[in-house]
Amino acid sequence: DVILEVKNLYKRYKSAQGETEALRNINFKIHRREFVCVIGASGCGKSTLIRTLAGLEKQSAGEVLLDGKPVDGPGRDRGMVFQGYSLFPWLTVKRNVMFGPQMSGHGFDAAERDARQWLELVGLTKFADSYPHQLSGGMRQRVAIARALVNQPRILLMDEPFGALDAQTRSKMQSHLLDIWRNIDITILFITHDLDEAIYLADRILVLKPHPGEVLEFIEVPVPRP
Ligand code: ADP
Ligand code: ADP
Repeated sequence: DVILEVKNLYKRYKSAQGETEALRNINFKIHRREFVCVIGASGCGKSTLIRTLAGLEKQSAGEVLLDGKPVDGPGRDRGMVFQGYSLFPWLTVKRNVMFGPQMSGHGFDAAERDARQWLELVGLTKFADSYPHQLSGGMRQRVAIARALVNQPRILLMDEPFGALDAQTRSKMQSHLLDIWRNIDITILFITHDLDEAIYLADRILVLKPHPGEVLEFIEVPVPRP
């Protein structure tokens, strides 16, 4: 059951200095409920790949199909979590999570109900009325995950989400993310440059070659998860 298909994807950035080829002929498929990590050297095109899948960058050639339909621009069917906290600092945790549902036209009460449900899933019910700056780094990333999932996306796209966290928090967040992934119907594409993180989290690891990104291998992780 294929949820995401990437076909002959190329991305070139044009600037005054000339052209940079960031992705070259990328082809792969991801199945529903898979947890896939993308690894590769710095500058190999990992962020470009995920930003293109998110619709934040336009590919130079090729296709991205989500449930068989071409991706064209950003959409609520793809949830995003970045390394930097993408929270609104002037809104409470709850209002941050309510933002998406409210933007899709849900009323306040329905949006609040959804937000509470997702905050419970990430273990932050008690912090619903706190502001982002009052939370630790790991907690803020949990809010970012709740905010991405509240729109019930088909796929969660994560770009080094735990890259800025200390080792201990990072490892707690990894097991927390696996718990979430086991509990809900979600497919995850997760970028990291940390092979240990990829082996811990993924069903399969997509390895990109050094710049310009090309698929080197797509490896099944033989290690059973804890
Ligand atoms: P990674 O995430 O693996 O570090 P990136 O996708 O950020 O790789 O970058 C891939 C290549 O594309 C690099 O050579 C980078 O310098 C270049 N690049 C990334 N973003 C831009 C941009 N907005 N404009 C021009 N070149 C870019
Ligand atoms: P994280 O790993 O999510 O960054 P930490 O475990 O480092 O969070 O905790 C940072 C602070 O927040 C600690 O004082 C911790 O006790 C507190 N904390 C974290 N999560 C919760 C929670 N769900 N309920 C109460 N306190 C929490």
